Amino acid sequence: MSITKAYAAQGATTPLTPFNFERREPGAHDVQIEILYCGVCHSDIHQARGEWGNSIFPMVPGHEIVGRVTKVGAHVKNFAVGDLAGVGCFVDSCRECHNCKEGLEQYCDTGMVGTYNGVEKDGTPTYGGYSTQIVVDEKYTLRVSDKLPLTGVAPLLCAGITTYSPLKHVGVKKGDRVAVLGLGGLGHMAVKFAVAFGAEVTMLSSSPSKKADAERLGAHHFALTSDEATMKGLQNHFDVILNTVSAQHDYITYLNLLRTNGTMIVVGVPPAPVQIHAFPLIMQRRSIIGSLIGGIKETQEMLDFCAEHNIVSDVEVIKMDYINEAYERILKSDVRYRFVIDLASLK
Ligand code: NAP
Ligand code: ZN
Ligand code: ZN
Repeated sequence: MSITKAYAAQGATTPLTPFNFERREPGAHDVQIEILYCGVCHSDIHQARGEWGNSIFPMVPGHEIVGRVTKVGAHVKNFAVGDLAGVGCFVDSCRECHNCKEGLEQYCDTGMVGTYNGVEKDGTPTYGGYSTQIVVDEKYTLRVSDKLPLTGVAPLLCAGITTYSPLKHVGVKKGDRVAVLGLGGLGHMAVKFAVAFGAEVTMLSSSPSKKADAERLGAHHFALTSDEATMKGLQNHFDVILNTVSAQHDYITYLNLLRTNGTMIVVGVPPAPVQIHAFPLIMQRRSIIGSLIGGIKETQEMLDFCAEHNIVSDVEVIKMDYINEAYERILKSDVRYRFVIDLASLK
């Protein structure tokens, strides 16, 4: 067992504070990773504040982890001490169901084991990346290129794969009209991937101040969602809308922006149920689908794609003790475009 320093939420209404706990010694198939950087995802806030009704406290959030391997178990094949490694949103799954066998571990029939706010098969609670080290089975550990800045790589482990996977799934290709709704951590990665796949990309944002950034990120157009005339002009326009918004909003407004056979992909999680009427779906044979992160194989594919195309997240690096302020800024949509914790500040 080794003592690990961390920050944890002790309850849904308390700020995150320092917390020490023990990680297991690496087993035969495990790698032990010294965490260098961990991204701050809006899902960390939803769960630390008990918004999904599934929170286990104390909670050490963090599922956008990059670090360096410090120990490997006797049967580890793909990692050696000193290698860079990444860990995303889950650290285990049943490994036997159809989804696990197909590389869709995030949809495991019995449920994936979350990197935090989860329970290992032996009953131990999982603690995430707001901590100095982690021990994970190598099958659930990703290889990380040394070509890219590690601070910008960390958010790829959730924000990256969550946007890459559904854009691939719906087959976005050159010339498709793709809209990204919400310019935050997920949204800015969605713009980069959709542009890399050759789409004509429109940023749909509620923040006028983000126009210049949207263009810098590669979006071809920017539309302010509060501007009625602009929104009217975009009716029946898009092939795909990737909806990353974390707050309550009206899905129907955006469904109406899809052209015939268009698809709205929901990845953002508003806190309460959202109404949809049949007509916006029926009238243009539109679809609405959801998508959850991505499997290990596809996450590796995405990381390799990013290394090849020089794609990283735009980040603001913070110290661990800034985390509660960072949460408040995320809630005000004041993040450009991912906070990443430098874990050296916790050692
Ligand atoms: P984020 O950085 O906070 O970005 C969310 C964006 O939504 C904001 O930047 C803002 O963009 C927009 N927004 C926020 N409040 C709004 C409001 N009241 N009305 C309209 N737009 C608003 O969050 P994130 O980390 O990208 O995560 C986004 C959501 O995806 C969260 O709910 C998170 O839990 C979820 N998520 C899902 C998955 C999955 O697998 N499906 C994975 C990770 C995260 P503008 O300023 O441009 O409007
Ligand atoms: Zn996340
Ligand atoms: Zn499974």
